[in-house]
Amino acid sequence: MRRIVVVGAGFAGVWSALSAARLLAEHRGEGSDIEIIVVAPRASLDLRPRFYEPDVATMTAPLGPLFAAVGVRFVAGTVEAVDPAGREVAFVDEAGRRTTLAYERLILASGSRLARPDLPGLGEHAFSIDQRDEAATFEAHLHDLAARPPSAARNTVVVIGGGFTGIEMAMELPARLRAILGEDAPVRVVLLEQSAVIGPELGDNPRPVIAEALASQGIECRLETSVTQIDAGGVRTTAGDRIESLSVLWTGGMRASDLTRCLPGERDALGRLHVDRHLRVPGAPDVFAAGDTACAATDDAGNHTLMSCQHALVLGRFAGHNAAADLVGAGLLPYAQERYGTCLDLGPWGSVVTAGWDRAVQLAGPDAKATKRFINGTAIMPPPPVRAEALAAADPLARVAART
Ligand SMILES: Cc1cc2nc3c(=O)[nH]c(=O)nc-3n(C[C@H](O)[C@H](O)[C@H](O)COP(=O)(O)OP(=O)(O)OC[C@H]3O[C@@H](n4cnc5c(N)ncnc54)[C@H](O)[C@@H]3O)c2cc1C
Repeated sequence: MRRIVVVGAGFAGVWSALSAARLLAEHRGEGSDIEIIVVAPRASLDLRPRFYEPDVATMTAPLGPLFAAVGVRFVAGTVEAVDPAGREVAFVDEAGRRTTLAYERLILASGSRLARPDLPGLGEHAFSIDQRDEAATFEAHLHDLAARPPSAARNTVVVIGGGFTGIEMAMELPARLRAILGEDAPVRVVLLEQSAVIGPELGDNPRPVIAEALASQGIECRLETSVTQIDAGGVRTTAGDRIESLSVLWTGGMRASDLTRCLPGERDALGRLHVDRHLRVPGAPDVFAAGDTACAATDDAGNHTLMSCQHALVLGRFAGHNAAADLVGAGLLPYAQERYGTCLDLGPWGSVVTAGWDRAVQLAGPDAKATKRFINGTAIMPPPPVRAEALAAADPLARVAART
């Protein structure tokens, strides 16, 4: 039996597996000796973009029935290394045993992790919402604050990092804190951003809207400010002052999975592998990369994928198609995704929707909230476990033709 192994069951991994299954179904004769295996710690899709929402422990969707419906085999495990020359991955299975799995084609879709620099107290005293268990720990901590004696530190949350994640979480916090501590509690949310502007990676166009939303919830934004130290009672800022807080949240950016280091070739500043137009890793011709592990050109105008669901969902469809097509001798598809948009949740104020790489604001305020609800509740969800429906949804060209 020949194998396509997909590492990771996130957005890119799920759609890689479905798309490979779709291609093999179309080439039944050539592909009947090929199996698709997904290796990941759990057969469920963690909905990372929703980790700023309440009830975060429930933010996951089962994948077992879906994989069974399309004939994808799931292996529970954590990959420790990829050997591109020997064409195998080394992984630790559920029982803690070390073992290997050979492949003919590999799709690396192991995502990203929050970057954690060497900052005093970060590991011991800061919360994060990068992974579901971490976000659930933060949520439980917020609820536990109600049992603590009232103090400025109890009523204050410091969010470090004024990017996409930091803004979305900060916008939720005043209302969440008041619900926990009492409507009259003097709650305080401080958002620290090291650059001179809020949401530096979001560009100039949506910034006035974001600033208005932050002000509406009384969020204190401190620009050109980070922290030098975090302890159990608060932070010391780079401006030299101290903020008392029992709840410090670190949102300082993401880095590609360490497995990218197993492969030869160039990586970008986020650790992502540069891939060619077919999403192949140059220097490891049997390996494709998708999602947060890949830096791919989206068009001929010089734009590249971001670490986002929007790109992971489509990269996965192309990577799966191309890995399978490569094995059965069918045509590979060049990845392209010219349409780009963002939707940022701004809590009780609403949302902001932008279009294009200059992020021109299309809609802002309560009216934009429906778009965010659609993205979070429908667009990023896996298809139902119905073979024909799931395979049809995995068609890379249909996805690009529709709004992505
Ligand atoms: C708080 C937060 C908010 C976000 N908000 C948005 C948003 O609003 N819009 C947006 O587009 N994007 C958002 N993102 C980014 C988005 O979640 C990621 O870009 C997306 O999840 C990338 O998909 P992926 O499949 O590449 O990786 P992931 O979703 O991270 O999936 C990686 C998969 O690989 C598995 N894995 C990891 N290491 C291994 C290993 N060694 N062995 C086996 N399996 C492994 C993981 O368990 C997981 O199944 C947000 C991210 C966070 C953290």
